[in-house]
Amino acid sequence: MAQTDKYGIRDLKRDFGTEKKCLDFIFDTLHSRKCSCGGTYSLLEGRRQFQCSKCRFQIAPTAGTIFHKSPTPLNLWFYTILIFSNAKSGISAKEIERQLGVTYKTAWRMLYFIRKSLASKSKDYLKGDVEMDETWYGGRKRGGVQNLNRSQAMQNKSVIIGAVERGGEMRAEVSPNDRAKTISSFLDRNINPITSKRLITDESNRYDKVAIGYNRHTVQHNIKEFVRDDIHVNTLESFWSHVKRSTKGTHKVISKKYLQTYLDGFVFHYNNRHNDRERFLHLIGVLLPSSKAQRSLFSSF
Ligand SMILES: [Zn+2]
Repeated sequence: MAQTDKYGIRDLKRDFGTEKKCLDFIFDTLHSRKCSCGGTYSLLEGRRQFQCSKCRFQIAPTAGTIFHKSPTPLNLWFYTILIFSNAKSGISAKEIERQLGVTYKTAWRMLYFIRKSLASKSKDYLKGDVEMDETWYGGRKRGGVQNLNRSQAMQNKSVIIGAVERGGEMRAEVSPNDRAKTISSFLDRNINPITSKRLITDESNRYDKVAIGYNRHTVQHNIKEFVRDDIHVNTLESFWSHVKRSTKGTHKVISKKYLQTYLDGFVFHYNNRHNDRERFLHLIGVLLPSSKAQRSLFSSF
C-alpha cells in the first residue's frame, strides 16, 4: 500500500482537529457558501449554525445527520470515525471510552450510529463469479451426543447468509433461518442472474430449486472436497472466520439484536479494503447523507 493511501491521526488533526474545522467540512459537503440573496454563509461563534451575511438566514449543517443533537464535540466524533475506519477487526466501545476519555454510553452510541448508517447504503447487484454460503454464529450450547440438544442449541445461534463477488464486494445478512425460501430471497436481492457468471455454493439441497436460473457450481463439503479447480467458497469461509475471531477478541459477546449492525461494519471494511484514506472519506460520505430522503432515515433514531 502506498504511503499516500494511509490516513492517520496526524492527518485527522490537520483536517478535523477542531469543532470549527469539522463544521466547515460538514457545511461545505452539504451546502453552498453562496446564499441565493448574494450574501455568504459563515459560522456563528460558539454555535453549530451558519448565517448569511446579508439576509441573516441560518442553516444548521448537522441537522438530519448522526451528529445532530449530540453534545459530543465533533472532533471527537471524527476521531471515532477514523478509529472505526482503521480497525479492521472491529473496535469496542470500551476502547473508544479509554482513548477519548468519554463515557461508555457516549462511546457506545457513537459506534452504534456509525454502524447503523452503513446499512442504509444503496447496493448494486453482485456479478461475475459469486460465492454464496451460510454460517451459524454465537450461542454457547453444543448439540450434545447425537445432536439431541440440537434445536435448543440452534435457538441461541443466528444464521448469517453471505455472498461475495470474486474481486468485488461482499453482502451479508443475519437471517431468521437457512431455509430455501430465505436463501431465495437473499439471492433475488443480491445477485443478478444475468450478469453473474457462476454461482458457487456447497452441495446443500436448499439451493436446488431456488438457484434455477443461475449457473450454479458446487463443492462437496460432505465428502471433504473444499476446492475443485477454482470452485470453492473460501473467500466467504475466511470472512466468516475473520468475523468470528474478531468479535471474540474485541467485543466478547454480541447479542442477536445488534449482530446485523456489527456485521455491516465488517462488510464495510471488506468492501473498502484497499485504501485507508478512501475508506475514511467513504465512511464520512455515508455519514453525511446529502439527499433529504437519506436524512429522514437518521431522524428516526
Ligand atoms: Zn442570504
